[in-house]
Amino acid sequence: MFLLTYQEKLSAVENFAKSLGCEVLRGEPLAPHTSVRTGGPADLLIFGGVRTAAVEKMCKDAGLYSYILGNGSNVLFSDDGFRGAVLINQVGSESVICDGTLITAPSGVQLSAVCKAALQNGLTGLEFAYGIPGTVGGAVYMNAGAYGGEMSQAVEKVEAVDVAGKAVSFTLDELSLGYRTSRFAQTGEVITSVSFRLSEGDPNEIKAKMEELIGRRRSRQPLEYPSFGSAFKRPEGTYAGLVIEQSGLKGFKIGGAQISPKHANFIINLGNATSADIIALIRHTQKTVREKTGYDLEPEVRIIPPEADK
Ligand SMILES: Cc1cc2nc3c(=O)[nH]c(=O)nc-3n(C[C@H](O)[C@H](O)[C@H](O)COP(=O)(O)OP(=O)(O)OC[C@H]3O[C@@H](n4cnc5c(N)ncnc54)[C@H](O)[C@@H]3O)c2cc1C
Repeated sequence: MFLLTYQEKLSAVENFAKSLGCEVLRGEPLAPHTSVRTGGPADLLIFGGVRTAAVEKMCKDAGLYSYILGNGSNVLFSDDGFRGAVLINQVGSESVICDGTLITAPSGVQLSAVCKAALQNGLTGLEFAYGIPGTVGGAVYMNAGAYGGEMSQAVEKVEAVDVAGKAVSFTLDELSLGYRTSRFAQTGEVITSVSFRLSEGDPNEIKAKMEELIGRRRSRQPLEYPSFGSAFKRPEGTYAGLVIEQSGLKGFKIGGAQISPKHANFIINLGNATSADIIALIRHTQKTVREKTGYDLEPEVRIIPPEADK
């Protein structure tokens, strides 16, 4: 398999994915598949759904570079696009299972759908997550969190497929969940399903909390523009938005990318931004904030390929 030319690798993976019933596109721009709406074409874009892990294994066997995308809410692809296969892992919410206080969902289900299932079943513990865009798999990979909650407080078990194609299962303490990170950032395992352990609660209170937190997001975040949420991780002892604002950068623009005038830790796409504009704005912000306040800001978004960030 490793003696294949690049074109032969693409064809081998394309044919395999099609044989599993996956839709495959060649040269499809990645911009419509990310929340910030930038990114050039992928040589292969495969709608893997529940077959994502199988297609990923085939990519490995063929020696083809691949990348798994949930909702694309925290990924910035280069304007040059992606040489290899991007596998989109999204599935409908019909296979979410509620068993007592345990909710289990395939990794491609939207996190909001799991939060709604929790509400419908009178289960509390995921209210914080309701407004976080993305899939359940992306949320565990990033240990997504908001308003004092994060995935580590609700996840009980994760099923995955390892790089050898073997099904594996992890309990919470094996996930290495930290601030916007997890074991999966190192291992290359594909998350296939997630179980959340919740508690019985009052549906009216759960609903009220979800609505309150969504209201806070709408009033403070520039949700009317494409973005990837928080641009930078929270620095020790302060807030990224605060030091960016103190550095005089609120509203600062490079090309079509702007530090949101509404929330300084959001970089928004005004409509015609390129990924290069956004990367330049990230770098300018880091440099200015370091010079003016002494804080080092680390991007939260994943820049792909990493060398695009040079
Ligand atoms: C408006 C807005 C608000 C946001 N607010 C928040 C917030 O409050 N809190 C917060 O934490 N984040 C927030 N985010 C960021 C984002 O929503 C989260 O990081 C989310 O969890 C990403 O999920 P996703 O499915 O979009 O993952 P993607 O962005 O598609 O992928 C993220 C990473 O996970 C990997 N991945 C995805 N699925 C799998 C899988 N099945 N197996 C292995 N790896 C996988 C990808 O390869 C990638 O490295 C916000 C984003 C936006 C646009």
